[in-house]
Amino acid sequence: MQITQHQLDLVNDRIRALVEAGSFYGKKLKEAGITHIEKPEDFTKLPFSEKKDLRDAYPLGLMTAPEEEIVRIHSSSGTTGTPVIIPYTAKDVDDWGEMFKRCYEVAGITNKDRIQITPGYGLWTAGIGFQNGCEKLGAMAVPMGPGNTDKQLEMMQALKTTVLCSTSSYALLLAEEIEKRGIKENIHLKKGVIGSERWSDKMRQHIADSLGIELYDIYGLTEIYGPGIGINCEYNEGMHYWDDYLYLEVIDPKTGEPVPDGEMGEIVITTLVKEGAPLIRYRTHDLSRIIPGKCKCGRCYPRIGTIMGRTDDMMKIKGVNVFPNQIEEVLANFNEINSEYQIRISHLDGKDTMRIYVESTGDVDFASLSKRIAEKVKSKIGFTPIVKVVEVGVLPRSTKKTARVIDERFD
Ligand code: ZN
Repeated sequence: MQITQHQLDLVNDRIRALVEAGSFYGKKLKEAGITHIEKPEDFTKLPFSEKKDLRDAYPLGLMTAPEEEIVRIHSSSGTTGTPVIIPYTAKDVDDWGEMFKRCYEVAGITNKDRIQITPGYGLWTAGIGFQNGCEKLGAMAVPMGPGNTDKQLEMMQALKTTVLCSTSSYALLLAEEIEKRGIKENIHLKKGVIGSERWSDKMRQHIADSLGIELYDIYGLTEIYGPGIGINCEYNEGMHYWDDYLYLEVIDPKTGEPVPDGEMGEIVITTLVKEGAPLIRYRTHDLSRIIPGKCKCGRCYPRIGTIMGRTDDMMKIKGVNVFPNQIEEVLANFNEINSEYQIRISHLDGKDTMRIYVESTGDVDFASLSKRIAEKVKSKIGFTPIVKVVEVGVLPRSTKKTARVIDERFD
């Protein structure tokens, strides 16, 4: 989808601010000799920005507005090295809240709802993002933060919360606890807004059925405000995103060239009005596609498909590119297993091996089930994995993100 002239005018404004502030991207542009883009078709001449650039700018090298206008910072988790720090102006915080409010509205949530927020607060953008949007909407926030399942369930019952905001793993954990404790009649949830993790259709269906709620996927990343930049509507055909705040492209992750609408690739985001830390052509490493055409709901906002994984999740096993999502699709066809799984890749006797662990939901012959799953996986990806069926509850659950792919080849 080509950038519009109006969006381009906004980008040129941001470019001016970046060059004036002398921040990393401003310098990059100066070096490239590009400080203005005349025509929409020239937009792709702008260089990309990468997570590494953001790390190199640590601590405050991204700051593009004057310090007296910065009201807050957020930081992405630094599990893989230096964290990234994103400064926000009051307008950025407000814009983010507006986008988030729009997400809640698209999900049919109103100011009469009570929203239980279980993602973490603090340096993260998660909890506070859900909260800002909730307060802008005028709904009642129940700011729980993560963990403490007893307290979560107690508040959920006492306050009759109607909306659950969480990761998919935590929603699953809560659903299982509610069932186990036999307290389903006391739960008044109607909707779930689920963020920050990729999940399979099967897991989604399982959570929706066991809690009896409608689920919405919210999209976002710390570098670009946080969660709340897109959500699916009632037709559930991809996520609408807010093109008055952001311009999205999808590129081939290898060549960097844009791919036609509808084709899978890496999402690249440009912020149109962000002041504290504008980003131009930021490579998210999230894999998805632009969904062509207008949505049945009639909303004018464009759509992207479900996030299919990360460009860096792509596993190269026995020379074949494999995405976790391909395995999930196969597993979803087996009723004898639930939605939990774990993939372990190792290198033994000079050969790559892939082991897939799944949880059986009932009394089945583990050996024959393993064999049938292995055959189906082979027909999808071209080689035979080792499939291990385990009892329900054996695979790890977590309140945050569950690691489903473990590559032991480089340990
Ligand atoms: Zn729609």
